[in-house]
Amino acid sequence: MSHNLFETFAARMRDRGDADFITTREGRRYSYQDALAASARLAGALVALGVTPGDRVAVQVDKSPEAILLYLACLRMGGVYLPLNTGYTADEIRYFLGDAEPALFVCRPAALEEARKVAAETGCPAVEALGIDADGSLMARAERAEPFTDIEPRDHDDLAAILYTSGTTGRSKGAMLTHRNLGSNATTLKEAWRFSAEDRLIHALPIFHTHGLFVGCNVTLMAGSSMLFLPKFDADVIFDEMPRGTVLMGVPTFYTRLVADERLTPEATAHMRLFVSGSAPLTAETHQAFQAKTGHAILERYGMTETNMNLSNPYDGERRAGTVGKPLPGVEYRITDRETHQPVPQGEIGMLEIRGPNVFIGYWRMPEKTREELLDDGFFVTGDLAMVDELGYVHIVGRDKDLVISGGYNVYPKEVEQVIDELEGVVESAVIGLPHPDFGEGVTAVVVTEPGTAMEEQQVLDHLEGRLAKYKQPKRVFFADSLPRNTMGKVQKNELRKRYQDTYR
Ligand code: ATP
Ligand code: MG
Repeated sequence: MSHNLFETFAARMRDRGDADFITTREGRRYSYQDALAASARLAGALVALGVTPGDRVAVQVDKSPEAILLYLACLRMGGVYLPLNTGYTADEIRYFLGDAEPALFVCRPAALEEARKVAAETGCPAVEALGIDADGSLMARAERAEPFTDIEPRDHDDLAAILYTSGTTGRSKGAMLTHRNLGSNATTLKEAWRFSAEDRLIHALPIFHTHGLFVGCNVTLMAGSSMLFLPKFDADVIFDEMPRGTVLMGVPTFYTRLVADERLTPEATAHMRLFVSGSAPLTAETHQAFQAKTGHAILERYGMTETNMNLSNPYDGERRAGTVGKPLPGVEYRITDRETHQPVPQGEIGMLEIRGPNVFIGYWRMPEKTREELLDDGFFVTGDLAMVDELGYVHIVGRDKDLVISGGYNVYPKEVEQVIDELEGVVESAVIGLPHPDFGEGVTAVVVTEPGTAMEEQQVLDHLEGRLAKYKQPKRVFFADSLPRNTMGKVQKNELRKRYQDTYR
């Protein structure tokens, strides 16, 4: 029996027939049956280009319905979909093509010439273009190709996709995801978040990342619901569309911007049934402010490229601000000592480890890294520090790599950031460790204040005095206009560490 995830999707697509699958503000529309037929034409083009089952198809294109059809075409013919961040430069693409050795690279029409050069250098045999208006050489080929109307048989453990991590802590790693990984998580999320054919997802996330691609699109396909595809987050558009939408999936910056907007009211969000947040920490303040202004409790969940989604606040029941909830059905977690991997007592901070059918099978061509992070008993070491409260809700405390060790003491940046953020006039802060001759690392804060606020370093230090143990207090406080963030709203602490690296030297 075949376990190609596309079998499940295709069954749903046939059932849904002429119902909307993807629409755009410009009036473009794919029904489910359109998408099914288009996936066969695109799969036919892939086969004609020499892509065979198990081959990688690397894709760096702007967001469009056709990019999702290409993902479906890949699944259908047994290829391995490999999306790349649209922000990557030609040099970065050279690394990814060299590492992944795809059989085909699909790029933006304007990048075709450069892409051909990089492909030639890395031995990639074929390059095609895909634009945002159903244009580009790949679509032309799909029109001419013999449609691939079959579904290539695949096993549970065959690769469906390779997704590179965001590169927040170092060089991006290719996570190998199987048909089982993606299928199990989509089914779980559909049920956990009560997705149905009635839903209309307002989709404003990028589709090269696990959040917008797998959480957004796979859940939609599993439920037979529809998506409104937006190129990016734009508050005006969100307010205009909410009266026709039912779900919004966002990164925390979506919500901080909505909360700051005076149009955010119970009326504006009355048609919506669910707001989901993830990819970076949502502060308890934003959660509470959103609830006060709309009556909706944002549902925060936790996941990563390597595992899809692991933990989620409940659909029914309390969604606790500042927590990522409880394990999804079928997912196990434990919080362990960083060295021994032995569970720590409830309430203590440790390394978060995850096991389940959602957990990837390893990093592409990084056997050592895989061995370090995928333990023999099947648990994956996430690199995130967490603690579980007395009600069983998990709190993400921060990344293991961002932990500051000063004079032999562990300082958890989040704890210090929360106290700094209480100070009147502070918008947000980031606490990092910098090389220090006496302490090993010196606790350092970077603070963003509200426009027009004149704040002195000493004011911040005075505020912390008495509120935090001495060893947790920053040795220096710097001010910045904003914190460096990537497209998923993640604060780039690596960049801050680089910026201030010589502070104590
Ligand atoms: P890299 O692994 O290359 O350093 P990355 O870990 O940022 O990059 P992703 O897989 O995109 O790459 O992100 C997963 C990480 O995002 C998690 O390990 C966690 O640190 C963070 N994250 C996701 N959801 C949440 C959340 N709800 N709260 C706090 N952190 C979150
Ligand atoms: Mg990571």
